[in-house]
Amino acid sequence: MNTKASVGAIHAAKTPRAVFPAMLRGALGRCPACGEGHLFRRYLKVADHCPACGEALFHQRADDAPPYFTIFIAGHLLVPVLLAFEVAYHPALWVHALIWIPVTILLCMALLPVVKGAIVGLQWALYMHGFDPDSPDEAELARG
Ligand SMILES: [Zn+2]
Repeated sequence: MNTKASVGAIHAAKTPRAVFPAMLRGALGRCPACGEGHLFRRYLKVADHCPACGEALFHQRADDAPPYFTIFIAGHLLVPVLLAFEVAYHPALWVHALIWIPVTILLCMALLPVVKGAIVGLQWALYMHGFDPDSPDEAELARG
């Protein structure tokens, strides 16, 4: 068997997908494949299939990545602002709590679907998990 030919045949079946546009479409809450259909059917629940193009989206495995990156981004946005506020006004701790706890919660709630959409777009563009047509069937994986 010619190994190079078989590897080429596998790659020929998968069209290269642009990563950044797919992540951008996902971040905007749209299907990474067509950019038309809604990616989410609820707040953070990814639709099984794109309502516009029918792309299977249930293969996504974003798992803990969206909260991790959301905390990372929110922390880097809020901590400098919080410190600048402290240096400028020296407010009491209860004032900090009154301001920053709700702001942090709202920012994280706003960022989560954006980050999750980008992660799903990345997974789709890179043929990760079940997005890869050559990956073993999930039922097959479950059987071991
Ligand atoms: Zn679509």
